[in-house]
Amino acid sequence: MEENKISKKCIDCKIPMKKTFVVYKGLNFEALQCPKCKEKIFTENLALKAIAKLESEKLKEEYIKRPIKIGHSWGLTFPKEVTDVFNLRNPKTVLKIHPSVEKYKIEINFK
Ligand SMILES: [Zn+2]
Repeated sequence: MEENKISKKCIDCKIPMKKTFVVYKGLNFEALQCPKCKEKIFTENLALKAIAKLESEKLKEEYIKRPIKIGHSWGLTFPKEVTDVFNLRNPKTVLKIHPSVEKYKIEINFK
């Protein structure tokens, strides 16, 4: 269901909440605030956005890696923070590898 941020009302005051910002760990996060009781809330949408922002803050923009020989194959190791953010320890995690010769790029997506 799509969330209508503008019509989100304060549970106590029954008046529409306004967009505000919350500072956490030096980062600005979008939240909603009641103009009357000053109660601040995160909608599910905003909470998910905030989590994604925090997580991406842990990651570097680029990692330089060398391929590693594993038996007859070649592998690549993931840095710890990448492993954590993308939940690579979960045995159910499936990665899709898209090699593109024209772009000279190998893209990894999650199934
Ligand atoms: Zn209120």
